[in-house]
Amino acid sequence: MSMHDRLAQLCRELGDPRRELAVLGEGNASARLDDATLLVTTSGSELGRLGDEDLVAVELEPAVALVRDVEPEDFERAMLDRLARPRPDGARRIPSIETLLHALVLDRTGAAFVGHTHPTSVLGLACSVRLEDAFAGAIFPDEVVVCGSAYLVVPYAPPGPALARALDVALDRHVEEIGTWPRAIVLANHGLLALGSTPAEVLAVTTMTDKSAKVRAVALAVGGLRPLPAAEVRALDGRADEHYRRRRLVEGT
Ligand SMILES: [Zn+2]
Repeated sequence: MSMHDRLAQLCRELGDPRRELAVLGEGNASARLDDATLLVTTSGSELGRLGDEDLVAVELEPAVALVRDVEPEDFERAMLDRLARPRPDGARRIPSIETLLHALVLDRTGAAFVGHTHPTSVLGLACSVRLEDAFAGAIFPDEVVVCGSAYLVVPYAPPGPALARALDVALDRHVEEIGTWPRAIVLANHGLLALGSTPAEVLAVTTMTDKSAKVRAVALAVGGLRPLPAAEVRALDGRADEHYRRRRLVEGT
């Protein structure tokens, strides 16, 4: 299956209304095509009903450069000038406003696929006064196996270059504190980014974070979270048989 078809299928799965991950034009997804290019959903496309024309190739390096050198007031013009490629018929397909998040994550972490959704469960906690402690620590083994030892929580910033810059800084902090790239990133008052080497992995990280958010909301409602001990989390994240379990959970093998 082509990269285009794999990403399109992931989008339709993420946009399935039964999953409650995105409604209307919410959410977007991307894939690394090669060292210089990413494929991303176009602005205004609907994940659950993604059409063949709704994915666009964007050069990685100019997109990452935009994170660091564009002012918010110049952002829309810069997106159009630097990232929107004309089609053979002359029309331009405009990449999602959140392309900078995708470019940054694909460029920095080595992930091959990224899914960005606004799950009701995650957004509920991300919009609450308990956000920081709601996603602190790991709480059950399968969560660690699929989502890694820690979530990255990014402080609120408006979508566009400001959010991408906040993510850039937060990624540095996460690697320094945890020692690995995150697999699931919670954006305050906004949503979720799930990283993976395959579409199945992105879907698994999204699904497990959705479940974890629901479990966390219940735990908070009855008095608070009971995180797994740090040594146990490290052991779960690093154990060889957990890698097997991860593959089984993620890929269904
Ligand atoms: Zn979003």
